[in-house]
Amino acid sequence: MESNEQDNTCRVVRVEPENADITSVYITGYDDRFRQRRAGQYLTLKIMRDGAWSEAHPFTISCAPDDELLRVTIKRAGAFTQAVPNLKPGDPLRCAGPYGLFCKNIETRKDIVMIAGGVGITPFLSVLRHFRVVKARNNILLFWSNKVLDDAFAREELKEMTRELDLRVVHNLSRETAVEPYEDRAYPGVSFMPGRLSLDLLKEHGVSAASSLYLCGPPPMQEFMLGELGRLYIDPHSVEKENFSW
Ligand SMILES: Cc1cc2nc3c(=O)[nH]c(=O)nc-3n(C[C@H](O)[C@H](O)[C@H](O)COP(=O)(O)OP(=O)(O)OC[C@H]3O[C@@H](n4cnc5c(N)ncnc54)[C@H](O)[C@@H]3O)c2cc1C
Repeated sequence: MESNEQDNTCRVVRVEPENADITSVYITGYDDRFRQRRAGQYLTLKIMRDGAWSEAHPFTISCAPDDELLRVTIKRAGAFTQAVPNLKPGDPLRCAGPYGLFCKNIETRKDIVMIAGGVGITPFLSVLRHFRVVKARNNILLFWSNKVLDDAFAREELKEMTRELDLRVVHNLSRETAVEPYEDRAYPGVSFMPGRLSLDLLKEHGVSAASSLYLCGPPPMQEFMLGELGRLYIDPHSVEKENFSW
């Protein structure tokens, strides 16, 4: 992880649960470097624990670069992330960044395929929120893998985006079998598939080496997906990747 020389003390504005495991934190008081951020970049965060600053942890900035408040959207994992839902407005934080090259120049790509696993959706939410602001006309196909529908915390927002952007969303729900009740004819750009994202489904949606591919999720999911894309003759090196392990 990059050094934290650029740490500056910010403040929590509000804390919003997205679902039982995922929380968004809105932050103000950041330094000017964050005003030049691009969609999909991340910051490192320290919180006060037992009267001392914690170690720094990386999180994608999940809002659009145009938004005034920084937003991070964090899933409970270990000790640090379990403390996040207990943050209160006014609490101090230390942020450093923005960092990272994932999604750099994505606005110049005509046909975009985004593949997200769980909370790995955050850089794509940032990009799509930005695309919404600038009324982008890129053709976007988003596959989002979760265990169950309730894990797909931003699904209502994505659903609305399919009406404003040239966006199709495919929810892959690995632990669900009966997904038909989720379909909504008013939103033909959103579909639901039981099971994991597979080669057949990629083919069915016309994914090919001609698209610009972006992949973000936990390491086992990334490995699996690169294997499936390889079977479509897509070179793993041509896929832009963000790895959430740290
Ligand atoms: C660039 C980047 C962007 C990220 N963006 C987000 C985001 O937007 N939202 C979000 O929720 N998370 C994001 N993460 C992941 C996040 O940083 C970690 O989940 C968090 O720091 C874990 O801290 P913790 O103390 O709560 O958990 P820890 O106790 O440190 O670990 C949590 C779990 O991960 C396992 N683990 C620990 N280290 C590793 C490792 N090196 N590789 C694989 N597994 C490990 C542990 O066994 C444990 O089960 C991002 C990571 C990176 C690198």
